[in-house]
Amino acid sequence: MQDYWFYEKHTEGYEVRWRITEILHQEATPYQKLAVIETVEWGRALILDGVLQIADKDEYIYHEMITHVTMNGHPHPQDMLIIGGGDGGALREAVKHPDLRHLDLVEIDRRVAEISQQYFPRVSCAFADPRVNVHFADGFDYIKAPVRQYDLVIVDSSDPVGPSIKLFSEEFYRDLHQILRPDGMVVVQSESPVFYADQFAACHANLRQVFPIVEVYLAPIATYVSGPWSFTIGSKRYDPRTINNEQPVTTGLQYYTEELHRAAFCLPGFVRELILK
Ligand code: SAM
Repeated sequence: MQDYWFYEKHTEGYEVRWRITEILHQEATPYQKLAVIETVEWGRALILDGVLQIADKDEYIYHEMITHVTMNGHPHPQDMLIIGGGDGGALREAVKHPDLRHLDLVEIDRRVAEISQQYFPRVSCAFADPRVNVHFADGFDYIKAPVRQYDLVIVDSSDPVGPSIKLFSEEFYRDLHQILRPDGMVVVQSESPVFYADQFAACHANLRQVFPIVEVYLAPIATYVSGPWSFTIGSKRYDPRTINNEQPVTTGLQYYTEELHRAAFCLPGFVRELILK
């Protein structure tokens, strides 16, 4: 086997490497460097600006958990917005819900969606669902002049660098609050509380400025840096730790279960400390 490796550098003192068999695609889009690689252990992977976004072997954990916890936590998630998520993974999970009637996906980089449909057919299989409307725009700007109100927003952004930075700001969360119905909810991927503790805590603090209910849950995403990954929900009315949906989607999934829904909100002491500050 050829000795080729992909290196994901996090700090001067820490990087992760994956052995690869092939680079299937590489390009510089107007927004970021994009690559598709075939890894030995984790299957095919999408890389943006040197950071792994999805890998075939464990993407279901992230996409099920970012989608079903909120969709099952909301009694009637009919109108939805996904910001980022151009690979289509959260979209694939959202269309499993019988409640859903309209979904806007706002992705800044058209090439992510195109490449996902070319190289990740299992992830991108729901783009053609008739309830789905795809917009190639900056999510931060898109919600400044909204055309509708939503029950639920999923912010499936990349790490807070480049065009994603704004998606972690208090201003963005205030705008999200405006476009949500009076009982709406937002979930954001809020980084690793172990490795990126400051970013995680800042995201929580910003959401707390805006939403009366803010809850954190965790899931282990093996290909993301350092153990547990966090998701943070801002909710106007419902407690998302409860399954409030009368028709929750729980079958046909590989990771999410009703027990896990509740258990994911049980936080380790150090995570509690970070959000109490
Ligand atoms: N699950 C992934 C993770 O946490 O590593 C992230 C998934 S998805 C690939 C992230 C997407 O957010 C990227 O396709 C990127 O182009 C998009 N994105 C970044 N900034 C954005 C913005 N301001 N508006 C809309 N989409 C944005």
